[in-house]
Amino acid sequence: MTIAQKLSFDVQLSGHARTAAEREQVLANPGFGQVFTDHMVSVDYTEGQGWHDARLEPYAPLTLDPATSVFHYAQELFEGLKAYRQVNGSVVMFRPYANAARFNRSATRMAMPELPEDAFVESLELLVQTDRDWVPTTEGHSLYLRPFMIATQVGLGVNWPSKTYRYLAIASPAASYFSGGVKPVSVWLSTEYTRAAPGGTGFAKCGGNYAAAFVAQRQAVENGCDQVVWLDAAEHRYVEEMGGMNLFFVIGGKLVTPSLTGTLLPGITRDSILALAADLGLETEERLITVEEWQAGCESGELTEVFACGTAAVVTPVGSVKGADRAWTVGDGNAGAVTMRIREELIGIQYGSRPDTRDWIHKI
Ligand code: PMP
Repeated sequence: MTIAQKLSFDVQLSGHARTAAEREQVLANPGFGQVFTDHMVSVDYTEGQGWHDARLEPYAPLTLDPATSVFHYAQELFEGLKAYRQVNGSVVMFRPYANAARFNRSATRMAMPELPEDAFVESLELLVQTDRDWVPTTEGHSLYLRPFMIATQVGLGVNWPSKTYRYLAIASPAASYFSGGVKPVSVWLSTEYTRAAPGGTGFAKCGGNYAAAFVAQRQAVENGCDQVVWLDAAEHRYVEEMGGMNLFFVIGGKLVTPSLTGTLLPGITRDSILALAADLGLETEERLITVEEWQAGCESGELTEVFACGTAAVVTPVGSVKGADRAWTVGDGNAGAVTMRIREELIGIQYGSRPDTRDWIHKI
């Protein structure tokens, strides 16, 4: 399979697309992942035949046999990225080829077929182009794109992975992910549950990772915290990531982030921040960080800021930490200067008020 392969999409426009007034009503208060645009993209895969029947069609429920493999063995993966309306009116995506590459790394881990990167990006261009009016004009809002793939073989035999798959992409206008805006979050250190172990699926964006995380997120909320922070599976000592976001620490003025050990998701926001930091005169380091270092650093004043980063919520400060036997505050509990500077820089590139010197912006 060549990475440059493109697909030819059949286009069937919706006969019942929402009116401009209905759309504007949604865009006035879009929430996150609640309402979807008028169209979706689907492509089927059959072993021996490859990808076929690429189509853009009206957004609609799927009809699947109850014995379809994905319902039983969770052979599924997804991606998340956004289309932005820039200050000059252009509609763009941020680093879609990075998502395409991660999609395929997830696919390989889940014994699923790779989708050519160009086909992945082309499918999203087509969807966003068709539903362009759904890209919000409100500052800070965006159109969240959710490409995903499911195993579609019918039957309960588990000896082999499915021989058929479907790739789909849907889109949903989005306001800020955390409804409180840029407000520091409180985090719960999960020692009862783990997200991923070496050799497992931690680096892949597969639904099963999220299904297994809900109980810990619920425990975080029961303990008065906003989000769960995952620690390594063996010792519950090393900090991995937060819910659906990667973590950064400002230690001695340096930007430090947990290394990609295989058990955390390699975030595209994380990767972008590591690249941007140099422009801001910040040194970076990828290494292991322990809970003890986090707590001691906050107590000594050496560790001044912590923030989480990801596509949905961009950059979010972490204000306080709680575990089964400890609790402490990061800095004075408010958003720090480095956190806010990085957030502004990234948002500036995404929305076009800052120059895109790295070719991250993909115009549609
Ligand atoms: N970790 C997890 C577990 C996630 O789900 C996400 C969101 N995709 C991230 C980190 C951040 O990744 P990205 O910056 O690519 O959105």
